[in-house]
Amino acid sequence: MEKITSLAKRRGFVFQSSEIYGGQNGAWDYGPMGIELKNRIAQTWWKEMTQLHDDIVGLDAAILMHPRTWEASGHVENFTDPLVDCKKCKARFRADQIPEENLAAKKCPECGGELTDTRKFNLMFKTHIGPAEDSASIIYLRPETAQGIYVNYKNIIQSNRMKIPFGIAQIGKAFRNEIVTKNFIFRTCEFEQMEMQFFVKPGTDVEWFGEWRKRRWAYYEKLGVKMDHLRWHQHGPGELAHYAKDAYDIEYLFPMGWRELEGVHNRSDYDLSRHTQYSGKDLQYIDQDNSAERYIPYIIETSAGLTRNVLMILCDAYDEEQVADKGNDDDWRTVLRFHPSLAPVTVAVLPLMKKDGLAELAQDIRRELKEDFATDYDQGGAIGRRYRRQDEAGTPFCVTIDYESKDNGSVTLRFRDSMEQVRVNRAELAVRIRKEIKEYKRTKP
Ligand code: ATP
Repeated sequence: MEKITSLAKRRGFVFQSSEIYGGQNGAWDYGPMGIELKNRIAQTWWKEMTQLHDDIVGLDAAILMHPRTWEASGHVENFTDPLVDCKKCKARFRADQIPEENLAAKKCPECGGELTDTRKFNLMFKTHIGPAEDSASIIYLRPETAQGIYVNYKNIIQSNRMKIPFGIAQIGKAFRNEIVTKNFIFRTCEFEQMEMQFFVKPGTDVEWFGEWRKRRWAYYEKLGVKMDHLRWHQHGPGELAHYAKDAYDIEYLFPMGWRELEGVHNRSDYDLSRHTQYSGKDLQYIDQDNSAERYIPYIIETSAGLTRNVLMILCDAYDEEQVADKGNDDDWRTVLRFHPSLAPVTVAVLPLMKKDGLAELAQDIRRELKEDFATDYDQGGAIGRRYRRQDEAGTPFCVTIDYESKDNGSVTLRFRDSMEQVRVNRAELAVRIRKEIKEYKRTKP
């Protein structure tokens, strides 16, 4: 993880928030490469959910919601973590994340000092809206995006004439006052989620739940993620949220071990029943195709962390490969094996020399490619070094312009993973790259 954190900073993926002031815990900034990667992951998910599914539409609800929302959802009452402090070293822990024997003996796992009693700590950030800081003005930063979907479910049925089964997808920020924020961007206080809530008829929920588990697994397969680093974890009776009928997590083998990446949950009719009760509005679905049958839909949720997906993709792509055996520093290269559709830069254009018109020709070719791809241009230093820089940033294709390019219009196309080079005609370059992206299969570990 240290290597990934340091590469992320060095290459402009992720910086510590407010670093010049010593950093802000639980918050991170996405640099020029990081925002491109995050955007591409978000776009890929969005396309998967909306463009490729006729029965799913999008939404962008506000972060600030009516405070009753969080009473209805159960967050005010139940969204708590058990907290213990060490009286001696002042370290703070989630009671469910330290060894049971330490908890039983009230012994700090770090210094052996005495632990406080366990107390409940609500994870929602609370603030005030308007000038008065009284209890009537309390408002929360949303701890999940899902509730914005539930409260809009009737609006969307009416405005877009949706019929059950259908889904609503949303990507957005969420905030949780996490007690322990470690492991880089894995668990942060400010993060982004990609959630899809699928509304189904009661009785069909078990089948739809199975269907969504299959679809979400296939999604990661399509992204070229190492499938032996993914596994399912079913929530046992002790873990299952009070509203859930069944729940599975997709876990990824991060450098610190297996951890949750995404949850697929059968949330029953809990959410819409509670919002009916708290809002006084009738949230039943009326099935016009079936004698106006009325029911509260069940909800199948797929809930993934976008920022956690960024970390997963970085970990999954990271590789160190021996490419020579000469006893030199550059016998090894660091390479990020991103799927080409996720890479922040798709094509780097590199003139072999700056002189003799090669730089101008390269700029011209870059201009052409820019219309279709995210490009970079680099004319500084030895060509081998420039390739390494692009490998480290995960750029899947480099186009090198040399003297032959001036003579016959051909260029060298170099592939990041195999380091193989082929000659391609300038006129065919864009088509060839598009084809390579479409047909990309990860061949290296
Ligand atoms: P955990 O048990 O890890 O706290 P959770 O079960 O509370 O997570 P959910 O409420 O199911 O998580 O949230 C759905 C997804 O949102 C998670 O799978 C994860 O990818 C992401 N997520 C949740 N909390 C955070 C966080 N603090 N930082 C980054 N991503 C998060």
